[in-house]
Amino acid sequence: MSEAIRKCNSCGIPLKDEKAVEFNCPSCGNMSIGRCGHCRDQSAKYHCSQCGFIGP
Ligand SMILES: [Zn+2]
Ligand SMILES: [Zn+2]
Repeated sequence: MSEAIRKCNSCGIPLKDEKAVEFNCPSCGNMSIGRCGHCRDQSAKYHCSQCGFIGP
């Protein structure tokens, strides 16, 4: 079995932070988007590679 390493969609670091969150794209709902605690604090933008949605 292989398990993909979740990474922050904004800064690319692995999501091992306990404040990290993961959610589906609010636009298309198909893309799982991860954000680390740091980027949540910063309200960093994320980008859905499936539909092109950009947002906090
Ligand atoms: Zn991040
Ligand atoms: Zn999307």
